[in-house]
Parts: sequence; structure tokens; C-alpha cells
Amino acid sequence: MGAGRSGTTALATFLGSNKKIQNVGEMHQFFKYLEENKKCSCGEYLQKCEFWKNKINHLKKDSFSKNRTLSEKMESHFSILKHFVNSFSNSNNIKYQELHKSVLDSIFLDTQKSILVDSSKYIGRALALNRLKNIDLKIIYVVRDVRGVISSFSKNVQTPKSPISSIIYYLLVNLVSEFVSRFFLNRKTIKIRYEDLMQEPYQILEKIELFLKADFNDIKQKIKKENSFKIGHIVGGNRIKEKKHIFFKYQDRWRFNYSFLQRLVFYICAFPIMFLNKYKI
Ligand SMILES: [Zn+2]
Repeated sequence: MGAGRSGTTALATFLGSNKKIQNVGEMHQFFKYLEENKKCSCGEYLQKCEFWKNKINHLKKDSFSKNRTLSEKMESHFSILKHFVNSFSNSNNIKYQELHKSVLDSIFLDTQKSILVDSSKYIGRALALNRLKNIDLKIIYVVRDVRGVISSFSKNVQTPKSPISSIIYYLLVNLVSEFVSRFFLNRKTIKIRYEDLMQEPYQILEKIELFLKADFNDIKQKIKKENSFKIGHIVGGNRIKEKKHIFFKYQDRWRFNYSFLQRLVFYICAFPIMFLNKYKI
């Protein structure tokens, strides 16, 4: 969970290199990818990709569009309020649960891994998945310094944003994420700062290890040896997926890209979230 450009795809990639974890990417786009016949990060069409094809056998092709509509209804930003007041129809609720349980089950069965990492970030999806029975949902809420987010959105990304719209988006997503993680999914959520992950990776990975009851020795070794991390077969994802591998490397270009005054103004505009997460001016 968290705002875009906060490092969730990178975190999912690091976690996905663990022997018990399968990173599947941004699963809120799964049925969109199937309906529009889009490509997996490996370059093959999702429906033909060696990783995905067995896992989607059980889904009817003529239902992709219907399943997409249902999923978007339950997972969109507009669904968040509906989750709070539980105003979904019983039939949508049940259909959603059955559909997504079957998708997750087929991935579990085929990969034989015990943890799936979904880097959707969507708060609506977290709340929708929370309705599924018999899955142990855990949420990692990732927050990043607003100036890193602004700098990242200003680059040549799929969805570039101006500093002002980045700040509004950042405040909205993080305020709602704070609210949801404190009052709705409290026991299922941990929060990490992207900067801490990149600067003190062992400490943060230990926190996630405890939370997921996993053993991340292999990930820590890879970071220590400066090995690359495979992107694998993921749905969605930003520019990162164009690469086959990424390295664990922290860059905070925003410190040099913006003047002191700009950095100060950005900080003040996003003050509630920056202060709450102990970011310094
Ligand atoms: Zn693939």
C-alpha cells in the first residue's frame, strides 16, 4: 500500500527473490491485462507467457471483461468509502471473493510458494482482499519523502505529474493509507519508509521477516554481494519492468535537482505526512 513512485515495485522485486515468495506484480490490473491482451514483464503476452498460462487456464476468456468490471468496482479508489460502510451487494461481494480466491489459489498451487507479493498499492484492493476468507493478508505500507516522489514523477514515466499534482496525490493517498492502516487493517499492516529500506536494508528486512514469518537470508546475501534481482513475470509495474534485472542502489537525486527553497516549499505543502513520518526539512 502507498503512493506511486514510493518504491513498492522495487521492494516487491527484492522480496520476490526469496525462495518462498512469488512476486506477481500489480494484480489490480490482472483482468485488464487479460482483456486487453497485454504483455507480461517477460515480453510475452500474458495469456501465452510460460509463467501465467497454466494459472489462467481455469478462467473463461469470455468473462475477462465481466471480471475486470467486477474487480474494478471492488478495488478502485471510489470503492474505499463503500468498503467503510459495507455497501456492496451481496452477490458482487461473493462473486469477487470466489473469483480472486480462485486466481490466488491457482498461483499458489502452480508455484508451490507460500507467500504471494502483490505490488498493487491500491487501498481499495487491500480492503477488497481483506474480504477473502482463508488467506492470511498482510500489508506493507511504504511511504517516501514527498520530494523523492515529486522528483520521480517529473521523470519520463508513464504517468508524469507536476509538483503540485504530485503533492495533492501524495497527501490524499497517504492520508487515506494512514487512516485505513490505523483503523481498519491495524493488525495486518506494517509501515516502512523507503529511505530506511534503502539505507538500512538489513534492519528493515528483519522487520518484514518477523511480520511475514519468513527467512530472508537469501535476500540479505544478494544485497551484500551486490547481486542483481530478477524482475520475473509481473503484471503492470512501471518503467522498472523494461529491465530484466535491478540492483539494490539508493539514489536521492531530489537533493540536487531542486533548490533549497523548492525543497522547503514541497516539505511545507506535504507537512502532515512529512512530519508524521519524521522526515526532516
Ligand atoms: Zn511472463
